[in-house]
Amino acid sequence: LFLVFEGGEGAGKSTQVTALAEALRAEGHEVVVTREPGATPVGERIRSLLLGAPGSDVPSPRAEALLYAADRAHHVATVVRPALARGAVVISDRYVDSSLAYQGAGRTLPADEVSWLSSWATGGLKPDLVILLDVEPATGLRRVAARRGETDHVEAESIDFHERVRYAFLDLAAADPKRYLVLDASRPAPEISTAVLARLDGMLSD
Ligand code: C5P
Repeated sequence: LFLVFEGGEGAGKSTQVTALAEALRAEGHEVVVTREPGATPVGERIRSLLLGAPGSDVPSPRAEALLYAADRAHHVATVVRPALARGAVVISDRYVDSSLAYQGAGRTLPADEVSWLSSWATGGLKPDLVILLDVEPATGLRRVAARRGETDHVEAESIDFHERVRYAFLDLAAADPKRYLVLDASRPAPEISTAVLARLDGMLSD
């Protein structure tokens, strides 16, 4: 079973990924927790090209899209597919929808091209369920700044960019409701975890 968490900055994905992995392990499932970008040694190097030190050379939008695709191709081939093949539950923090939202809507690359690039990178592997933690950009960015202990956080992207990203995620969910669970990320973390487990009930074989 392939599960993916998506959402904007400060949506609380990593908290939910950890909670879900613990709950499923307690039920006896083998769980592989992973993320994009940067889950593999090759991916870590790609991640540092993408999210390197502030002020470092920033890849152009198409280069950025290709780097995310390269990270994903390697991640799927070396981590996700082998784990699924042995029957593990794979939980990924971000996947293809992040590229459609950030590189597509955010950087305004054509959605069909980003979509094609992503399916080429993954060989067409789709998640069984995407859990979208929906958060207003202002709220999410405040959370990120608080987590980093910053009082004067200067966000690299505009609120407008983050709004485009947010609505791209929501549009993807609306277009394929069976494959998505959309949750309000401003709810308390334990409530969100309970809703995720309720949705998974019946999807997991014992
Ligand atoms: O999920 P995490 O916070 O590790 O993501 C790191 C950063 O990478 C985020 O700030 C997000 O904006 C960016 N990102 C992106 N495009 C992707 C995936 C992540 O711009 N496809």
